[in-house]
Amino acid sequence: MNDLPIAVIGAGPVGLAAAAHLFERNLVPVVFEAGRQAGSAISQWSHVHLFSPWKFNIDAASRALLEAEHWQHPDPEVQPTGGQLVEDYIAPLAAHPKLAPHIRYETTVVAISRLNRSRLDNADREKSPFVVIWNDRDGNRHRTLARAVIDASGTWHRPNPMGRDGLAVEGEHEYKDPIAYGIPDVLGKDRDVYAGKHTLVVGAGHSAINAVLDLLDLKIENPQTRISWATRSGGTDRLIGGGLNDALPGRGLLGHRAANAVRDGGVSLLSPFTINKVERTPHAFNVAGELGADAVNLAVDRLIVATGFRPDFSFLSELRLTLDPVVEATPALAPLIDPNFHSCGTVRPHGAVELAHPEPGFYIVGMKSYGRAPTFLLATGYEQVRSVVAMLAGDEEAALRVELELPETGICRTATAATISLNAKKEMTMNAPVKDEPQAAGCCGGPAPAGVEACCVKDADAKAAGESGCGCGSKPSAQVEPKAKPVACCD
Ligand SMILES: Cc1cc2nc3c(=O)[nH]c(=O)nc-3n(C[C@H](O)[C@H](O)[C@H](O)COP(=O)(O)OP(=O)(O)OC[C@H]3O[C@@H](n4cnc5c(N)ncnc54)[C@H](O)[C@@H]3O)c2cc1C
Repeated sequence: MNDLPIAVIGAGPVGLAAAAHLFERNLVPVVFEAGRQAGSAISQWSHVHLFSPWKFNIDAASRALLEAEHWQHPDPEVQPTGGQLVEDYIAPLAAHPKLAPHIRYETTVVAISRLNRSRLDNADREKSPFVVIWNDRDGNRHRTLARAVIDASGTWHRPNPMGRDGLAVEGEHEYKDPIAYGIPDVLGKDRDVYAGKHTLVVGAGHSAINAVLDLLDLKIENPQTRISWATRSGGTDRLIGGGLNDALPGRGLLGHRAANAVRDGGVSLLSPFTINKVERTPHAFNVAGELGADAVNLAVDRLIVATGFRPDFSFLSELRLTLDPVVEATPALAPLIDPNFHSCGTVRPHGAVELAHPEPGFYIVGMKSYGRAPTFLLATGYEQVRSVVAMLAGDEEAALRVELELPETGICRTATAATISLNAKKEMTMNAPVKDEPQAAGCCGGPAPAGVEACCVKDADAKAAGESGCGCGSKPSAQVEPKAKPVACCD
C-alpha cells in the first residue's frame, strides 16, 4: 500500500494544494484533471472578480514550492479575477517541476472502489488499495491503484436548475439556448448575446449579483438592455448580505450596488418569485411563474440561472460515505454550514476529523466538501488539505491542530462598522442567504474554539453556561449528534 500514490481528483486550487502538501510530506500524488489545464473550472468564470484578495487565496505549501522557483507573490490586498488566479497562481503551480509530472490532464474519474471489495465487503477493507477508474480524452478506460483518495473535484459542473423544488422546470431542458448557468461574460465575449435584450437573472447570491451588475454596465452602453431579477424571497434587504460591514469590501459593495440599482429602477426585482415554466413564443420566451400569490408571465430573451451548485457523488457509489441529508456534507461539518440554520457565515476551522467518511483513506475536500452549502472559501479548503494530508502521513497531532485565520464577513445583521476591526478574523461568506432571524443576529463573536462542538464563540459560551446554544447553529439533534446505536433484533 505504501508504495502506491495518493490519488487527487481535480487540479483546481484545492486539489493542487493537496498535491503540494503531499510533496511537503514526501508522499507521491497522482492528480486526475478532467480539463485540459489546471484550474479549468475557474477558467470558465475568468472574467469574474473574486471577492477575496490575494492574501486569502494562496495556500502555504503551494506558496513555498512557488517561491523556491522565484515566483512573485501578487499584491496581497488586490482582488484578482478568476483569470488572474489561474494565470498568476494556479498555472505556475501546476507547471512546477515537482508537481507537473504528477498531473494527468483530460482524465475524468468515473468510478472508485476498493480492490476486489464491493461496498458490502468488510474484509480487510482498509488494507485494500483504492481502484480509480478514469477515462482518457478518447474515452478509453484505465485504472490506477492508490493508497488513499482526496476528491477535490468541485461542483462547478453541476449547477442547480431553476425550479424551486430543486428540479428543472418545464421547458428548462428543452430550451437550452436562451439559458446560461453561472456568470456569463456579459461585458466580454457574450456581449452581443445580451446587449439590447431583456434578461431575467434567477438567484440571490454573489453570482447572481455579479450577473446583474454586469448587465447594468452593459445597459449604460446600450440603454435598450432590460434586466429583471427573480429571487425566491427577501426583497432588496437580502441582497445586501454583509453589506458595508463585510470585511471584504468588494463583496459588501457588490450587494449595495445591486440594491441601489433595484431602488433606482435600473433593475426590476421580482421577489418572492417561483418559476414554473419556460416556453417559446414567436419572438422570445415566456417565463410563467408566481410573484407571491399572483400568476405572472414575463417575456424575456435570455435567462441567467445563478442558483448555486451541487456535488456529484455518482462516481463514489462503491465507497462508504456518510452525508448530511440536507447539505450533503459530512455530518460533522453540515451543522456549521447549513444556510437554513446558520446565518452568520462563521464556520469553525475544520480538517481530517470533520471530513472523515466511514471509508478509511477517503476524503472530500474543497468546494465539494460543502455539498450544497454556498459558503466555501479557498482559505478553508487549504486548511482542510493541510489537515487531511497530515492525517494520511500519520501525523495526527498536526491533523488536529487548527492553523486557520479568516476574515469577518459581517453577514450577521447586527454587526456594525465598528465590529469589523474587532472581529477581523472570521469567515467570509459567498452566496449565503441572509435570514430574517432576529434571534440569530449578532450571534457570532468569532469561530468557536477548536475542539468545542459549537458554531461560534457565542454559541460555545451559551453551551458552556448550560444553555442550549445561541440558536444560530442549532439543528434537530438527530442531524447533529451521532445516532444512538440501534438495538439489534436479538438484543
Ligand atoms: C464565481 C465564483 C466566485 C468565487 N469567488 C471566491 C472568492 O472570492 N474567494 C474564495 O475563497 N472562494 C471563491 N469561490 C469559491 C471557491 O473557492 C471556488 O469555487 C474554487 O474554484 C473551489 O476550488 P476547488 O479546487 O475546490 O474546485 P474547482 O476549482 O471547481 O476545481 C475542481 C477541478 O476538478 C475537475 N474535475 C471535476 N470532476 C472531475 C472528475 N470526475 N475527474 C477529474 N477531474 C474532475 C474540474 O475540471 C476542476 O478543474 C468562488 C466560486 C465561484 C463559482
